[in-house]
Amino acid sequence: MEATWLGRLLEVVPLAGALLVAGYAGAVPSEAESRSGAGAGGRVAVRFLGHACFLLQWQPEGGAAPVRVVTDPYPADMGYGPLQVSADLVVASHDHFDHCASGAVGGRPETIIGTSGKGKDWVACDREVKGLRVKGFPTYHDPGRGGERGKNMAFLVQAGDFRFLHLGDLGHVLSPDQAQDIGPVDVLFVPVGGHYTIDASQAWQVVGALRPKVAVPMHYLTPAIRDWPLAPVDEFLRARPSVPVRHMAEAEVAPGGLPQALEVWHLVGPQG
Ligand SMILES: [Zn+2]
Repeated sequence: MEATWLGRLLEVVPLAGALLVAGYAGAVPSEAESRSGAGAGGRVAVRFLGHACFLLQWQPEGGAAPVRVVTDPYPADMGYGPLQVSADLVVASHDHFDHCASGAVGGRPETIIGTSGKGKDWVACDREVKGLRVKGFPTYHDPGRGGERGKNMAFLVQAGDFRFLHLGDLGHVLSPDQAQDIGPVDVLFVPVGGHYTIDASQAWQVVGALRPKVAVPMHYLTPAIRDWPLAPVDEFLRARPSVPVRHMAEAEVAPGGLPQALEVWHLVGPQG
């Protein structure tokens, strides 16, 4: 009875029949299905809190509770004032004072710091935390293999389908091997102010090596830290006139929301 009904339907509506058969055969998974193994999809809101500190708020698909990650938190007395943010997870590139003030973040976050002994040793990390993948890539704080300022960890945070890379206080350009090891990057947080880190022109070399979809500058001079020997962000923003620069207070990274070709997103934080 049922076969007859189906047979008749296929005769009358051949296209529907073809779709039905393809559906039964499993056919080709949709893009959403094929990517679902990477995590719980969703979207990520990104806010700049100053210096090298960002808040990533991941909202997984399906109504699960959001997960809040704060990168490289700074202490209240540094110039930007107290951080008024809480998080589930803090990820800090190295244990220098302006990057690892996890006590300044509310919510009793779990904390991952990429170095110990004030940059003396790396602390390896490749794990899953609260549904996020967090992986550290050992780098140095200076061009002389850490001889001057110690070690630094670049952290990849994968939230759903999106891969964020925070370079911390990277002090050198990346080798092709390092870039290949890191793999694809959707959003890159890159220091541009020089002196303690790579400068604007080296930052562009690193962007060229990693080929992210979005580059977000950080660790530059602002009125909040006016005495620091850093360059302002303009030097980085103006260096590649062919790359679009978008200024925004908050970014959202969502399916279909990333540019096809590289863009710079200048996230305007406290005091610029
Ligand atoms: Zn720093």
